[in-house]
Amino acid sequence: MLQFLSSNDFLKIILKIRNVIAENKDYLAALDAAIGDADHGINMERGFDSVADQLGVVDVNSSDVGVILMTTSTALLENVGGAAGPLYGMFFMNMANVCSGKNIVDSETLARMFEAGLESLREIGGGTIPNDKTMVDTLFPVVEGMKKAVNLKLELVETLKLASDAAEKGMNSTKDMIAKRGRASYLGERSRGHIDPGAASSYLIIKTIYQYVSGQA
Ligand code: ADP
Ligand code: MG
Repeated sequence: MLQFLSSNDFLKIILKIRNVIAENKDYLAALDAAIGDADHGINMERGFDSVADQLGVVDVNSSDVGVILMTTSTALLENVGGAAGPLYGMFFMNMANVCSGKNIVDSETLARMFEAGLESLREIGGGTIPNDKTMVDTLFPVVEGMKKAVNLKLELVETLKLASDAAEKGMNSTKDMIAKRGRASYLGERSRGHIDPGAASSYLIIKTIYQYVSGQA
């Protein structure tokens, strides 16, 4: 079982995320249609298509993990558009900063990467907190779960299982929330009863990392 993730692992993970996002484009669009403007699926698909294009010209053998994630960040910043572009762009940029110069990443580093990414995403969002009905409701419990797993010295795959389960729970918890950030917040009480699209795309990302590490994808 994998104990570390290399640059090549990250490359493969990100290309899998691209496929999963493309497969779920209509699902994400439908979630955004309910409480937003229906563009989250197409925004994310366009962004990750461009990530795949830009990673296609990166020499993975001479690139550290930071380069892979910084390339991802730049492509997302330039191509996602909407609120999610800068949010995910900064998320990946700050993940990249933590692993700059590293050729392999262990659970502890991965947890620090997610923590740094989440911190910048929340800042860019204007101080987004859990319960605002956003992607933070998925990513906050992911970071908490990863930190817990590191303290318990769990294996990488168990760390990601915990993170993925926490992400799923976090995503589902947005259904009963009233949106306090972004476009959905204009709906007030009417935003209740729907899963937040960004919380759903964040879950797909975490689930894909877990599936890769556990050999399911
Ligand atoms: P837009 O809202 O501009 O159409 P998207 O549809 O691509 O952009 O993304 C919407 C998602 O972005 C929301 O579902 C939510 O998860 C996330 N989001 C929006 N505003 C914020 C914010 N201030 N903080 C954190 N996440 C946010
Ligand atoms: Mg939208």
